[in-house]
Formats: sequence, structure tokens, C-alpha cells
Amino acid sequence: MIQSFDAVIVGGGIVGAACARSLSQKGMRLALVEQGEIGAGATAAAMGHIVVLDDSPAQLALTRYSQLLWKQIAGGLPREVEYHQRGTLWVAADDEELENICRKHSAYRQAGIPSELIDAQSLASIEPALRSGLAGGLLMPEDVVVSPQAAARALLQQANATLVREKAVAMGSGRVTLSNGDELRAPIFINAAGEGAPALTLGLPVAMRKGHLAITRPYPGFLRYQVVELGYLKSAHVTTTDTVAFNVQPRQNGQLLIGSSRQFGAKGREVEPGIMARMFERATEYLPALPTLAIERTWTGFRSATPDKLPLIGPSLKDETVFLATGHEGLGITTSLATAQLLADLIAGRTPAIPIAPYLPSREIAAAPSAQRL
Ligand SMILES: Cc1cc2nc3c(=O)[nH]c(=O)nc-3n(C[C@H](O)[C@H](O)[C@H](O)COP(=O)(O)OP(=O)(O)OC[C@H]3O[C@@H](n4cnc5c(N)ncnc54)[C@H](O)[C@@H]3O)c2cc1C
Repeated sequence: MIQSFDAVIVGGGIVGAACARSLSQKGMRLALVEQGEIGAGATAAAMGHIVVLDDSPAQLALTRYSQLLWKQIAGGLPREVEYHQRGTLWVAADDEELENICRKHSAYRQAGIPSELIDAQSLASIEPALRSGLAGGLLMPEDVVVSPQAAARALLQQANATLVREKAVAMGSGRVTLSNGDELRAPIFINAAGEGAPALTLGLPVAMRKGHLAITRPYPGFLRYQVVELGYLKSAHVTTTDTVAFNVQPRQNGQLLIGSSRQFGAKGREVEPGIMARMFERATEYLPALPTLAIERTWTGFRSATPDKLPLIGPSLKDETVFLATGHEGLGITTSLATAQLLADLIAGRTPAIPIAPYLPSREIAAAPSAQRL
């Protein structure tokens, strides 16, 4: 069977769902192809932290723009999405990290993003579960937490798209071919297939980075903010060894989501006890009572990473009708709405709210030496 649309999106994760929502606002006739459940890929594995990060000016611009887009739509999201402006508390273990925190504070201030320096004494009073002796912290009051799979479903519900439950086996030259032999024709395709994106657009500069997470039973009041060690940023950059970092998020019902790990080259989806043990050990260095909490579930997921740590948003190099929306690494929940809006602007020929050049697949992708392992 052959069907025609104005645009076909492959991938029903948070990014594809956001794209469907943004493009339907343009009144386009859309199909969204998803081989499994909506949001059941990397999206379901995520912490759902909508966080502003400043590794580069482009990352800061994209994360902040997207965070503001989430804020705009928050009121229309169903309760299951659990949108909650929880705030992030970055903690510094020593004076060197404290200096970094001060640098971040002034960068955020310059960008007009609210942040507050917290001294060591106040840290102990606002998060008593943290160990004593930490050097200080930085509170980002506008960071948010969502339930990521529910968010993907909600975005798709707000879209006007025909859901096609099949695997796409080929994309480009005016058609998407499905595993049942059907064809979807359109002048525009969006590759938002996450882990499956490189199979549909060959030669993508992305690699999979495995991550582990755990969730406890409910312990209401254990933490107030999502608390993350400053070293998380360092660990997120390492591309040569497996890393773990302290990153714990209280959910609305009091459960605690415990992260996080990053592994290159790990292919299997199984939970690795060694990595999990390292992750708990690291978190316990900051939250001494953590070993007394009961763990309810553990799981893994794969982040899709580019060498320069920015996503690929825009026309692919090989086929101008194929637009890429992938490579978001650990920020795809955060940046899904901005990705979708940038693509919708590009397709409509509108000037986007932030410059799109840093995310275009045609950019010169500067790989750090270690990133050659990608
Ligand atoms: C442990 C972990 C924690 C994370 N925490 C956060 C966080 O706190 N905040 C944040 O912003 N980000 C976080 N992330 C990153 C985030 O999860 C991803 O960046 C984001 O989910 C990517 O969304 P996506 O839609 O591109 O991919 P996916 O959610 O993987 O969606 C892709 C979809 O495409 C479908 N698909 C693939 N191939 C085909 C095909 N050929 N035909 C049809 N369908 C296909 C898949 O079934 C899947 O549903 C985390 C990731 C991990 C692993």
C-alpha cells in the first residue's frame, strides 16, 4: 500500500512526538512511524530532568530555550506528566569545585537565568540528608522534572498525526519503506529514531552511551531538590572510560531516582551489578543514609551521543528531504521541544528564536581526541 503525507516522522520517542506536535501546528498532514510503544525507547529510561547546562554557548542556548518552551506548555500537560519545577542543587565537594560553581553562577547571571549560590552552612540546612563538609552549592530554581514517557504520550496527543505502528526499514528519496512492504511518500522526512537513526541515515556521527538508573520505594521528604555533584559534568565528558556520578532526583510521590552512569562500547541492555555498585557507592559518598533505602527497580538505557555533544537538527548531508532530530545524548527530554520548534521554523522558512547553525548536521563537528572512539 502507498500513502502520501506532507511529512513523515520516524520515531515516537520524546523527540519525534515533539516534532509531530510542532509540525501539526503548521497544519501539515503527518504520519508518525513507531515500531513499539510511544516513548518506550531512551525516553522511558531517562530521569526526566529538564535542566539548563552551559558546557558551550550553544548548549546553554538550546537547553534554556527548551526549558522556557516546556514552561509555556506546562499548564496544558496532563497530570500523569508530573511536570514539577523542582529545582536543581549542584553541590561542590571542595574549593576547586566551588570556584567552578561561582563561574557557572556568573555565566547564568549574564544569560539572565536565575541561580543562587548556597554556602556550606545553608546547604546543610536545606538538604540535611547531604553529608557534612561539602563546600557549597548552586541552586537552579527553574529546573524541572517530568515523567518522560508520559510526556512523550502527551505531546503526541496534542499532535494531529496518523500513527503507523510498523518498523521503517528505509528512508529517503521521497519515501519511507515499512517492514510490511508499505510505502509512505512525502516531501519531508524526520529521522527521530533514536538508537535506530543510524540505520536509516547511514554515516551519522553518533555512538550509543549506556546508562544505569535505580529507583527506591517512596521516602517523602528525604530530598527537596534534584541534587547533583558538580563532578557530573566532568564525568559526562569522559569518552574513554566508564564513569559514574552522584545525581539523585526526588519524585513527587517521594521515590528517589538514583543515577547515573555512562559507558561507551557497552552493547547489552542488562543491568551490570559492578556499575550499579559503583553508582551507589558514589551516591552514598554524598547521601550517607542511602544504603538504608529499599531499591524497587533498576534499568538501563542508551544515550545517542555526537562527538561535539550537540544534537543533529536539520537536513541530512545526503538527502535534503531527510531532516535529522537525533544525537541528544543526556539532554533529549530537555531539548525535545526546542529541537521540534527549530525544525518547524526551518521547514516553514521562519527565523528561529535562537541561531540553528550550531546544531545543523552540516556543521564542522569538532571531535575531541578521545571522541574518536565514537
Ligand atoms: C539513563 C538515562 C538518563 C537520562 N536522563 C535524562 C534527563 O534527565 N534529562 C534529559 O533531558 N535527557 C535524559 N536522557 C536522554 C534522553 O533519554 C534521550 O536524549 C531522549 O529520550 C532521546 O529521545 P528520542 O526520541 O530521540 O529517542 P527514543 O526515546 O529512543 O525514541 C526513538 C523511537 O524510535 C523508534 N524507532 C527506532 N527505529 C525505528 C524504526 N526503524 N522504525 C520505527 N520506529 C523506530 C524506537 O522504538 C523509539 O521509540 C537520559 C538518557 C538515559 C539513557
